[in-house]
Amino acid sequence: MGDIRSHRRTADDYAKAFADLEPPLSRKAAIVEASRCLFCYDAPCVEACPTSIDIPRFIRGIQTDNVRGAAMTILDANILGGTCARVCPTEILCEGSCVRLDQDHEPVMIGALQRYATDYLFERGEQPFTRAPATGRKVAVVGAGPAGLACAHHLARLGHDVVIFEKKPKGGGLNEYGIATYKMTNDFAQREVDFLLSLGGIEIRHGVVLGMDVHVADLAEQYDAVFLGIGMGGTNALRIEGEELDGVMNAVVFIESLRQAADKGELPIGRDVVVIGGGNTAIDMATQAKRLGAENVTIVYRRGVEHMGATGYEQEVAQTNGVKIQLWAAPVRILGDGGRVAGIEFEYTRLDERGTLALTGERFVLPADQVFKAVGQNLVAADLNGSAERLAMAGSKIAVDTDRRTSMPRVWAGGDATGLDQDLTVVAVEDGKIAARSIHSFLAGN
Ligand code: SF4
Repeated sequence: MGDIRSHRRTADDYAKAFADLEPPLSRKAAIVEASRCLFCYDAPCVEACPTSIDIPRFIRGIQTDNVRGAAMTILDANILGGTCARVCPTEILCEGSCVRLDQDHEPVMIGALQRYATDYLFERGEQPFTRAPATGRKVAVVGAGPAGLACAHHLARLGHDVVIFEKKPKGGGLNEYGIATYKMTNDFAQREVDFLLSLGGIEIRHGVVLGMDVHVADLAEQYDAVFLGIGMGGTNALRIEGEELDGVMNAVVFIESLRQAADKGELPIGRDVVVIGGGNTAIDMATQAKRLGAENVTIVYRRGVEHMGATGYEQEVAQTNGVKIQLWAAPVRILGDGGRVAGIEFEYTRLDERGTLALTGERFVLPADQVFKAVGQNLVAADLNGSAERLAMAGSKIAVDTDRRTSMPRVWAGGDATGLDQDLTVVAVEDGKIAARSIHSFLAGN
């Protein structure tokens, strides 16, 4: 039988294991780091930021000790700049383009500086934005994740009233439910939602399920405009023998439980844990399994390291936590013992001459008490129940134009459910912002 137990480690261990991954900069360290910026004209870091934050401008603010001004610059472009400072893959975005990287192999720590500035404002509980005079227009937003929140905040600033329909008891979407605990300590996601709502003009109705309690077509009738920021509610299956065994779980479900657990030790974890996948969810799952006390944690990915969705930095985090990464292997079947998972059989893979992934015929088995699936999520068609026939799809996602308009009149969409780009918080925020501008222009009769 498998060895799955709660409280493998002491409360002290858990407190350390789930503390901030990267502690914040002190005032002195922030000013010194800001002084490294060259304040480039046509700064490549701004080009690389999906929300186009004026990075040299906010860094100048920090350097001159105008931290509030720095935070305003960030939040004006990206209202979830606090979360993005913690979770953005900066190495492939702003910091990856920083001129300092070529000069001395160390980019300016843009992410850490962004966190320093936004934390300053949050700690003071101050809402720096004001609302334009009320327009009398009402917009429905479905989903209180990054796209929905960004869209709602932007619309509320422009004087519109917004009602957000959210199925979960808390707002924040993946920021609250889907990111590793040590990246979002001190209940940051909720503090950020509270900050955002303190603007006024935004009401969140929790426990409302799209496709059951509300329908897109009805919302489009009842409101002046609708924004769908519904994310990806379904999880992909492995579709192999043994997937139904006890101990086989979806990583997103486990990560959500861990984020919501007051006592991290209460979540049972195995001694031998296998995580299937190559994205950030796989990394977050594996690293947290290790920190919960699992002895052997292996991520198994069917392609090479260069194909992994997780960045090099994320892979390094996993490896420094003792997680092994096994590449070029695909799961073939999950082995059971008395109804519980006991191991998982893999087959080595390779790319054939046409560049297609192929099995090699050579197999191996990893012992496992728990198997976590982190092989992607999908849009739940039932969420769009009653409207799917009127919402054009692009593959498995909602089709939108560059203004994030869907095929349905007065309905916009953004975030992971549209998938114009990578499934990043910062991209979802930009979607929400672009849609809000387009909705505003529509409501103004332009
Ligand atoms: Fe500063 Fe680097 Fe951006 Fe240039 S590219 S403005 S050095 S952060």
